[in-house]
Amino acid sequence: MSTRTSLSDEQGRFLADTFGDAISLAPEVLRVYASDASLKTGTVLAVYRPRNAEELSRFMRWAQQENVTVHPRGRGTSLSGGCVPTVPGIVVSMLGMDRIIEISDTDFVAVVEPGVNTADLQAECAKKGLFYPPDPASSKATSVGGNVMTCAGGLRAVKYGVTRDYVLGVEAVLPGGDIVRFGGRCHKDVMGLDMARLFVGSEGTLGIVTKLCLKLLPLPELSASVLAGYASLDDAMQSMARVFRAGILPCAVEFMNETVLEVLTRTGEVPWPDTVRSLLLFQIDGSSDSVPHDMERLCRQLDDALWRIQGLGREEEARLWAIRRRISAGSYVLGPDRIGGDMAVPRGSLLAALRRFEEIAHANGKRLIGFGHAGDGNIHANLHYDASDPDDAARTQRTHRELDRAVLEFGGSLSGEHGAGCLKDVSLQIPPRERELMQAVRRVFDPTGILNPGKAY
Ligand SMILES: Cc1cc2nc3c(=O)[nH]c(=O)nc-3n(C[C@H](O)[C@H](O)[C@H](O)COP(=O)(O)OP(=O)(O)OC[C@H]3O[C@@H](n4cnc5c(N)ncnc54)[C@H](O)[C@@H]3O)c2cc1C
Repeated sequence: MSTRTSLSDEQGRFLADTFGDAISLAPEVLRVYASDASLKTGTVLAVYRPRNAEELSRFMRWAQQENVTVHPRGRGTSLSGGCVPTVPGIVVSMLGMDRIIEISDTDFVAVVEPGVNTADLQAECAKKGLFYPPDPASSKATSVGGNVMTCAGGLRAVKYGVTRDYVLGVEAVLPGGDIVRFGGRCHKDVMGLDMARLFVGSEGTLGIVTKLCLKLLPLPELSASVLAGYASLDDAMQSMARVFRAGILPCAVEFMNETVLEVLTRTGEVPWPDTVRSLLLFQIDGSSDSVPHDMERLCRQLDDALWRIQGLGREEEARLWAIRRRISAGSYVLGPDRIGGDMAVPRGSLLAALRRFEEIAHANGKRLIGFGHAGDGNIHANLHYDASDPDDAARTQRTHRELDRAVLEFGGSLSGEHGAGCLKDVSLQIPPRERELMQAVRRVFDPTGILNPGKAY
């Protein structure tokens, strides 16, 4: 792996002469690309924004010859430092390759470049009556390529699965410049190893993705949501279990713990009474005939809620989901700095895990901001603190480490959707022999270790 701290004059000249205005060496641009949503920072030697796979191939051949590290980047919303150069290197921003090449309502596929915005793709599909289900809460800000590289989950995963379930084909440029294509536009294909899906969740460690073929579904005609308030988290979780036992499969089930409700109350108007200590937010979708009927069935299972409101159709639902979207920004009332968690536990362990997390936080004098995708056992466990207060910072770090250990005791995963990036200690979860095999696979694609070093596994 390269340990350079700057490019030589000759390297800078080669890049500028060969790639023209696709290369930036301006310090003010490099500063922007030094960080991502994790706020961790690294050193950027240049930013390259490829225009097509062939041009990127030339760049990757040069990067391997010169032993310069390369850090792929979509829209930089990684919360685990996935885009941050862990060693000084060149950031390859894929935002110049953002075309929707095709949306086919006969093959039920979309062919896209990786820089396309997720919400834009969803909107274009909807115009043709088609549906691209993966829906991270950040979809208005993310690229589809970044979603694929992190196997983004999100709100609708309980019914529709995660990004992995929609990737049919991948084109990528490897270190050294080879352009490879795996899979295609067939919904079924079992020839050879499933290399397209090996790329999913690989966090930019195998190659830089330049084209994707994604599976689409028919667009559901209608959706409806219900926000239900409970006296305790235990009551909320029991209520959710009853919904699933009744054979109802919502497309989203989000939960919020007591600290989240306090945050929401302190940062804006809330519609629920004081007795409510925990919330569940359900969404169902389907045909315009089935949704009102399914909503009635769902509400019958929520009879024990202290309070509830519901909305039929996007407009009415918006005010319910606006409450969920306020959590991340509102949480800063509990401290200017944050350590985030996106751990997953087996679904049946969700309540026990949350109780244990709250105990750990309490024992360290911290509040646990607990919310997330209850239907998947995916918990956002955030801790806010003041980094200028050494005692608070130490207690927060200790809490974070203890939460990670607790997740593993429940048979869980340190990351359900954000990826390991450079912030999560993969060795806590993945045993040495299994990691060795993952690293051996990585060396097949990237023998000299120039691609996104220090990330993932
Ligand atoms: C407020 C907020 C809410 C969020 N909610 C969710 C959520 O509900 N669910 C969820 O899963 N995530 C969520 N995230 C995390 C983040 O949005 C996702 O990880 C998203 O998939 C990243 O997309 P991006 O385009 O920003 O990728 P980036 O952050 O730019 O990159 C992510 C990773 O992919 C690699 N990469 C990007 N493009 C390519 C490419 N073309 N080829 C090879 N490697 C590439 C990068 O090197 C990096 O390792 C949230 C983040 C924020 C800030």
